Amino acid sequence: MPAPVPMSATLAADAELARRRAAGERVLSMASGEIGLPVLPALAAQLAAAADHSAYGSVAGSSVLREAAAGYWGRRGLDVDPELVVAGPGSKPLLFALLLAIGGDVMVPVPSWVSYQAQARLAGAEPIPVPIRPGEGGVPDPSRLREAVIVARAAGRDPRCVIVTVPDNPTGTIASLGTMGELASVARELELVIVSDEIYGDLVYDGPAVSPALLAPERTVVTTGLTKNLAVGGWRTGVARVPDRVLLQRLVSVASQVWSSPPAPVQAAAAYALAEPPEIVERVAASRRLHETVARAVAELFVKAGATLAPVRATCYLYPDFSPLREHLLEAHGIHGGGDLAQLLSRRGIGMLPASAFGESVDPLRIRAATSRLYGDTDAQRLAALEAADPLRLPWVRDAVEWLGEILSDLTQTR
Ligand code: PMP
Repeated sequence: MPAPVPMSATLAADAELARRRAAGERVLSMASGEIGLPVLPALAAQLAAAADHSAYGSVAGSSVLREAAAGYWGRRGLDVDPELVVAGPGSKPLLFALLLAIGGDVMVPVPSWVSYQAQARLAGAEPIPVPIRPGEGGVPDPSRLREAVIVARAAGRDPRCVIVTVPDNPTGTIASLGTMGELASVARELELVIVSDEIYGDLVYDGPAVSPALLAPERTVVTTGLTKNLAVGGWRTGVARVPDRVLLQRLVSVASQVWSSPPAPVQAAAAYALAEPPEIVERVAASRRLHETVARAVAELFVKAGATLAPVRATCYLYPDFSPLREHLLEAHGIHGGGDLAQLLSRRGIGMLPASAFGESVDPLRIRAATSRLYGDTDAQRLAALEAADPLRLPWVRDAVEWLGEILSDLTQTR
């Protein structure tokens, strides 16, 4: 039987735009979460120096890496036993392995990252969608979560975990402390494991978000990696902190059957990064500032064009809602929903994803825009963007922002 999931929408959109760019078209990919910043040379040196680490090593990862991960979380207020850390080839496979290890059905926020629902289906589970509270992406509204779990259990389903994204992709927002507290108590009452995907944890503009692991450490799994804070997605590395030894053992068993061990040279580099020497802290801070500056500038373009947008607080993602322009978009361009809108933008050279890619069941007039590809086309340009006092004044960044602004105003202006 074929796999019951489509190709990841982000990866598919990226491949299509790369093809068009190669054919000479002017395109701007705002579809995928590729951070696209050059590798910090000191980090690359760590990877190179470990090239001769050629043995599999332990399934859960090296003790150096597991201790470094525990230290990373410890500096964020979460007391972690290194024995309860599992490293893997990216947080994505770790999340999938966690769903297999936990078993049962999966509560997912809507909207949420493209892969949660697909992974749940691949694991033979049913993803049960629960809407977020407005402006508080990544966490299902706890009262609706409670209701949905009770209804699902009464109908014979077996929800055992809830996935949350802190901070959130696709909305660039963060659930409030109050909502997080309610989530923790609903999870306790209904005995749910909270799987907290914190891959964007270092990309909160004004200080770290509160992890649900701080509120319900006994039932919360946390995952993170180096894909977003240090832009090394292609290295494939991630870490998970599990709350107890039973889940640890199940997760390690799945890992042992699927990837055997995390890539050894990458583990050495990851351990160095998670220990957070000053040059790493500095680089992450610089990329956070760059994301903030460019994401806020692009957010303004959307608002100027007439879309509404919850204030962006983290990541390089925006999730504008074009509903206020519904009538005009329909009359002038025949646009009914986010799917049509994304297609029209794509025809004009800008790749963005419709809300339906993030699990929204109807086709609302929302799209997700990732701003990280605006930093430049070459490593030299991206490095300059990282180092610039005002990246918006760099000609290639300014051109890209202006081009996007023109396309948006052309699309939304009533003549
Ligand atoms: N979670 C979210 C919310 C993401 O956006 C991504 C990457 N797009 C991942 C997980 C996967 O990251 P990794 O490279 O660690 O597998």
